[in-house]
Amino acid sequence: MIKFLDLHKINERFRPDFEEKIKKILDSGWYLQGEENERFSQDFASYCGVKHALGVANGLDALNLIIKGYGFGSEDEIIVPANTFIATILAISENGCRPVLVEPDINTYCINPELIEEKITPKTKAIIVVHLYGQATPMSKIWELADKYHLKVIEDAAQAHGAIYQGRRVGNLGDAAAFSFYPGKNLGALGDAGGVTTNDSELYNKIKALANYGSDRKYHHIYKGVNSRLDELQAGFLDIKLKYLDSDNCRRREIAKYYREKIKEPKIILPQVENEEAHVWHIFAVRCSEREKLQTYLEQRGIQTNIHYPTPPHHQGAYAEWKDLSFPISEKIHKEMLSLPISPVLTDSEIRELVEIINEF
Ligand SMILES: *Cc1c(COP(=O)(O)O)cnc(C)c1O
Repeated sequence: MIKFLDLHKINERFRPDFEEKIKKILDSGWYLQGEENERFSQDFASYCGVKHALGVANGLDALNLIIKGYGFGSEDEIIVPANTFIATILAISENGCRPVLVEPDINTYCINPELIEEKITPKTKAIIVVHLYGQATPMSKIWELADKYHLKVIEDAAQAHGAIYQGRRVGNLGDAAAFSFYPGKNLGALGDAGGVTTNDSELYNKIKALANYGSDRKYHHIYKGVNSRLDELQAGFLDIKLKYLDSDNCRRREIAKYYREKIKEPKIILPQVENEEAHVWHIFAVRCSEREKLQTYLEQRGIQTNIHYPTPPHHQGAYAEWKDLSFPISEKIHKEMLSLPISPVLTDSEIRELVEIINEF
């Protein structure tokens, strides 16, 4: 069987280093906000090319804390793509702001920059871009709009660790970025974990305090904060895996290139990329008007696939107030997309087998 994502195999490569790290932390007796966090934040900041990185509990918290850090609240509008994992939108709602959904570009699956300006009002405070499936959002038009209307640009980089746009890594393409290190992401922990990156020292200090009960020093609470910290074990594991992120992404690119060259089945629409380094292939998303049939066909032949995502946010029960809204492009993507297996541990024979089977659909 070709697994969709073999997390055991991915992490098994690091077992000796992980075991050594566990021993070190057990010996130290220090579990939170220690040297592992210090080291990982520095290494991740320099990897992304930003001044600051901060480990937090998960990706949703990272988004939440950025919005909270800017002090956005009720009445404020935040622009967000209509096709994203619901976390991006939940973070906006959680802060009492209004999510303003914008249709994606059918070729990049990222927000369509041409459709943003018409949604900007005097209440608009920020644009959240989501580098969906691992592809950096084309930013130039978005930077232009942010300048023109004095908006913050926030990246949801949960799927795109390491992607490069115009020579800059994601995490360094806006005012602040949220990362998830959920186990299945390109850089994944052995549990929940997340991070914020920014060049804005004031925002960084505020988020650091917010994430630790709103305290800038012990028992001194300047904000109504939350508890959202990255523990030492996860920080330690992530720092080990960070060194292999580029080579893992390279292998993902190799597999994506192979799929794009070899999959010839006319009923399957392959993903498009303008620039190889802009995509880190968290997900290899194809479209097919007979998606369910394709999924069953592959499953019966031992190939696991996934759907990211079956239901668009505006049709979720959590947003019942949006049930009559219509985002046809987003809906089309949700209806037709299928995620094929892609990961740094897939073998050449597995990807050859997958292509042979899919071409006989
Ligand atoms: C995974 C993901 C998140 C949430 O991350 P968690 O660590 O699970 O909270 C947010 N946005 C996107 C686009 C994601 O893929």
